[in-house]
Amino acid sequence: MGKSEKKKQQQTSSASRSKGSKQDGKAKAKNQQQAVKKQSLARPRPVPAPSPSPNTSTATTTSTGNGSGGSKLSALQQQFARKLEGARFRSINEDLYSNPGHASFADFQQHPEKFHLYHTGYREQAAVWPINPLDLIIDWISAKHKGAVVADMGCGEARLSASLPNRVHSFDLVAANDRVTACDMAHVPLADGSVDIVVFCLSLMGTNLVDFIKEARRILKVGGLVKIIEVRSRFQDNKGIKRFIRFLKGAGFTVKQEAQLLENVMFFDVEAAKNDEANPSFDWDMEVKSCLYKKR
Ligand code: SAH
Repeated sequence: MGKSEKKKQQQTSSASRSKGSKQDGKAKAKNQQQAVKKQSLARPRPVPAPSPSPNTSTATTTSTGNGSGGSKLSALQQQFARKLEGARFRSINEDLYSNPGHASFADFQQHPEKFHLYHTGYREQAAVWPINPLDLIIDWISAKHKGAVVADMGCGEARLSASLPNRVHSFDLVAANDRVTACDMAHVPLADGSVDIVVFCLSLMGTNLVDFIKEARRILKVGGLVKIIEVRSRFQDNKGIKRFIRFLKGAGFTVKQEAQLLENVMFFDVEAAKNDEANPSFDWDMEVKSCLYKKR
């Protein structure tokens, strides 16, 4: 519709409003559209504020634009909200990689909305990956480790536990549901040697990676497995991956499937069994790069 035609129709519709009974169906529809537009403008901000505020809703973006009836302004509003959400996701992600686990735990306990914002962004990222690594882990445990007791470190919303009949202890910084125990995974409330498998699926985020591996070793039975899937680029190249493998060996694990580790393009997948003794003179030192997401 041209600008002048649109203006004419608006004039017609306001004129017919004043005339009451003469209002035709078209004008009624237009008025309804305008009412919806007003309502959508009056909606609370779709993105949560950095800290909880009584006047701010934590509702997620709802779409009012359907391609034909949506107003231009609300489309812009939505685009802005998406950008803001994306920026907040990247900033939370960066914080998780730049701080030790205990600091992130304290932060998320105070601002649990960060966890939900993070996972909204994480789900969006994961949706465009060729494969979600957690599905590989679900298949692996279902096929080969039916009776195993599992600890899922950095479990997110505990999809692993929800997908398996196994006993799965799920840990994350915030308890998103009843399956999850909120804690820093460097210190989980499990006894020494109590689990068969420890899973870290894209969760080795804190700067104190060494503490997470030590904790995995503590709660594993001898012969138990640690399964790690990480974004490959965090290790820079095969040299970085080999260094990580050396680290795991030194930390008291026998690394399996070494040959396959270097083949996957996007993710790095390692499986290692706990030895009965760790090297007492091992220099516990290992760092990997952060995984920063690009603007979309
Ligand atoms: N493993 C899940 C979630 C991956 S996202 C999956 O594959 O779907 C990474 C998760 O690790 C986030 O939920 C984040 O909160 C959690 N995490 C990062 N550092 C943590 C820590 N120190 N203790 C507990 N959870 C942590």
